[in-house]
Amino acid sequence: MPEHAREDPDSVNSISELVVTIDGPAGSGKSTVARLLAERLDAAFLDTGAMYRAITLAAVRDGVELSDEGQLVAVLAKHRFDFKAAQGKMLVAIDGQDVTEAIRDNDLTAKVRFAAAAPRVRERLVRMQRAFAARHARIVTEGRDQGTVVFPEANAKFYLTAHVRERARRRKTELEAKGRPADLEQIRQAIEARDRSDENRTVGPLKPAPDAVVIDTTDLSIAQVVERVYRHIEERCSRSV
Ligand code: C5P
Repeated sequence: MPEHAREDPDSVNSISELVVTIDGPAGSGKSTVARLLAERLDAAFLDTGAMYRAITLAAVRDGVELSDEGQLVAVLAKHRFDFKAAQGKMLVAIDGQDVTEAIRDNDLTAKVRFAAAAPRVRERLVRMQRAFAARHARIVTEGRDQGTVVFPEANAKFYLTAHVRERARRRKTELEAKGRPADLEQIRQAIEARDRSDENRTVGPLKPAPDAVVIDTTDLSIAQVVERVYRHIEERCSRSV
């Protein structure tokens, strides 16, 4: 069954036994780490960035003014958004149409900051994220505000970071693997611009929760990061793992 983006608390039928949050800036490795960790823990994986991307894509397609919060909220109400963890990634559909690839487009990425800075959009997405968690016994969720705002009571919180040069290099490799040559300097500038708007917005800004374990992934492989995160969870939540 698709994980339809319901906010209705009546749909909640289980209490999560394990919630792990992974926050951090673009290119810090959090998506890949969260996905692999979810597999290892047999947990559902929630990519919250995909939600902000999907609402932005629907708004762009509808031709609405992205800086108009009221119009963004109307877009959320007008369309059906489905988020489903499968095949090692989050499958996203708008009104039944798959947009999993379309939401990763570079031009779209640069526009997500409008929905991300709109308090009423965030409020609704936060409710959807909590409803998703309540439908799963175990979740690993990644984003910018998961440990600080959405799941302050999470069992384990992580904040991944890496030097911007390394984050840009990773993004370039990713794009090239998809057959899309990219300029390293342009990528670095786009990442820095996104960091700035993510860190400086007034609602749900990017920052580590006070009780998050901070891991600098600059010189670590994905496998090493997953191992570290897993070990922390084992130590903290021995009954759940
Ligand atoms: O993680 P990803 O790069 O897909 O996120 C895209 C954008 O969505 C981020 O740059 C950020 O502005 C926004 N976002 C957010 N809060 C989250 C997840 C993503 O504001 N929890």
